[in-house]
Amino acid sequence: MRHNQLPNCRSDSIGGEARMKYGRKFLVEPGSKVRLAGIDPGFKDKHESHEGAMPELNKNAARIANLQYLLYADGSRSLLIVLQALDAGGKDGVVRHVFSAMNPQGTSVFGFKQPNAQEAAHDFLWRAHLRAPARGQVVIFNRSHYEDVLVVRVHKLVPKDVWSGRYELINDFEKMLWDNGTAIVKFYLHISPEEQLERFRQRLEDPQRHWKISESDYSERELWPAYIEAFEEAIEKTSTKYAPWYVIPSDHKWFRNLAVSEIVADTMEGMRLRLPPAKVDIAEIRRKYHAAAEGKRQAGQPQSK
Ligand code: AMP
Ligand code: MG
Repeated sequence: MRHNQLPNCRSDSIGGEARMKYGRKFLVEPGSKVRLAGIDPGFKDKHESHEGAMPELNKNAARIANLQYLLYADGSRSLLIVLQALDAGGKDGVVRHVFSAMNPQGTSVFGFKQPNAQEAAHDFLWRAHLRAPARGQVVIFNRSHYEDVLVVRVHKLVPKDVWSGRYELINDFEKMLWDNGTAIVKFYLHISPEEQLERFRQRLEDPQRHWKISESDYSERELWPAYIEAFEEAIEKTSTKYAPWYVIPSDHKWFRNLAVSEIVADTMEGMRLRLPPAKVDIAEIRRKYHAAAEGKRQAGQPQSK
């Protein structure tokens, strides 16, 4: 199959070093160790401000819009984007800002909550598989099957021998999706505890956002080190050639959006999407068009008595 020769991103397919800047910088190389404490969540590259990053943000949005049109038209591939973060890490913000560049007709977002009764009665990958993208479609997982090695591990909802067996099952599942034509890209939005608290403060002060606050925000925050440990192991064990993880510095929302949008656009370019050939004889259709246009012109002329 055409896509089987390709990793998700290839610099040679998209014109070299200038692009893939953040794709290279934030990629978790398969098999490498992850130490989140060594990654600065406040990183913002050469940009001073949101305004300064606007031209690149706009360029990425335009690239994503064009590429999603191609993905939809091509109809042979699909794209799965996984977003994971601690509370207030910016998953909703990424969905809003980055994916507003896409046509809703070919995109959907699925938020993973505590499994409902039907979901809980199945294997942990069932609900993820159910929502995986069809050909031509982009699906965003806001949280994902990774919750089953994150919250489930931290809260000891299943024994260790159960959650620790899941990394391999996840890798097999993602490989199967990839073999079937789905490109997969996974983002961990990396924020500092200080930035999380600042975002909680902003939520408290803005009545428009009170609905987002939950008691668990504060109890989960107490478990920060356990979550970091769980994230590190999950990312290490499941960053693969066919479904790579990217750790995105996310204290600055605009920088997070810039990095994610660039990596999404690069991933889609690496898919080598093509417009399919026309299903009809265009020369023949052109003749029909001219005949119709001519007929319309004659019908529109005043009738002679
Ligand atoms: P939110 O993203 O704020 O809407 O919250 C969704 C909640 O559902 C989070 O607290 C998640 O940790 C929780 N959740 C998602 N998947 C699972 C799962 N498989 N098991 C337990 N809790 C989950
Ligand atoms: Mg929440």
